[in-house]
Amino acid sequence: MVYDIIIIGAGIAGLTGAIYGQRAGKNVLVIEGRGVGGQITESPLIENYPGIESISGFDFTQRLYKQAQDLGVNFVFSEVRELKNGKADTSHKGNIEKIIYAGDTEYHAKTVIAAGGLKKRKTGLEKEEYFTGRGISYCATCDGAFFKGRTVAVMGGGNSAVSEAIYLSDICKEVYLIHRRDTLRAQKELIKKLESAENVTLILNSTITGLKGTDVLEDIEVLKSDSGKKENIKVDGLFVCIGQTPQNEYLGDEIEKDESGYIITDGNCHTNVTGIFAAGDCRKKKLRQLVTAACDGAVSAAEACELLDKT
Ligand code: NAP
Repeated sequence: MVYDIIIIGAGIAGLTGAIYGQRAGKNVLVIEGRGVGGQITESPLIENYPGIESISGFDFTQRLYKQAQDLGVNFVFSEVRELKNGKADTSHKGNIEKIIYAGDTEYHAKTVIAAGGLKKRKTGLEKEEYFTGRGISYCATCDGAFFKGRTVAVMGGGNSAVSEAIYLSDICKEVYLIHRRDTLRAQKELIKKLESAENVTLILNSTITGLKGTDVLEDIEVLKSDSGKKENIKVDGLFVCIGQTPQNEYLGDEIEKDESGYIITDGNCHTNVTGIFAAGDCRKKKLRQLVTAACDGAVSAAEACELLDKT
């Protein structure tokens, strides 16, 4: 089977691309390694998508998924290991250009849209893996309830860290927000909300340097950059919100990426390789929002269709 379009990733960009490709009469396969919807499924509330005043991330992605399924888009749930450009097997008839290896299976396509999105950055501290699920979490919406009435810390100074701290302040007894600089980079409105929460303590100019505990996380070691002193803070949980990195590991060096691993495209989502497009947060761009992910999905699918119709 040779698909017209294979889309890697079932986030907002991938699902939108699938809807556009399928509606244009192409046979489309979406390969997803985790769950449908990507990171926005963790968002309790979306209030900036045009035409929808308010919806949860989960409901939004379920609607998109259903829309794609109802149109006849094919889905496979498997981790993509590699994408190869070039003819795989001379016994195959037709215009096979791209081969995708996912799980134990090889998938063939005439065009590919890379839409793998982002994954959360890790602290890199010793014992981080061990304490994950034993005090360390990367998502307050998912795990906040486990820390009801308890003391937690949030690491980071961007919109995610501040939003998570605000969310946790309604559930937890005490919340520390620990940031390495003297100012937060989050939006002003979020900072205002944070400051009005009485149980949030802001610890600036401070870096978490150690994770301590036996079975579960019990203390975090914090280094104050102004005094050079270290102190232990007793916490039941630590929410790590220090940004994200693109999930493009399956792409070889043939596809151009920037120094942070984001795929370089032109304004219409073309990579440097004909027939391979990139859409959503995994590509180099300025504004990473739901609406720009959806936009990329539509543009990349339309460009793929145009190429397919020419060949
Ligand atoms: P971000 O904006 O990249 O912020 C990451 C934060 O983590 C920064 O404060 C950074 O510190 C800190 N950091 C990075 N590496 C660190 C390390 N190794 N140790 C300690 N601190 C570290 O990431 P984000 O907050 O996850 O947001 C990602 C995107 O989603 C942004 O575009 C954001 O606007 C968007 N978002 C929007 C909303 C909203 O609109 N309500 C909510 C959530 C996310 P420095 O400041 O020192 O670099």
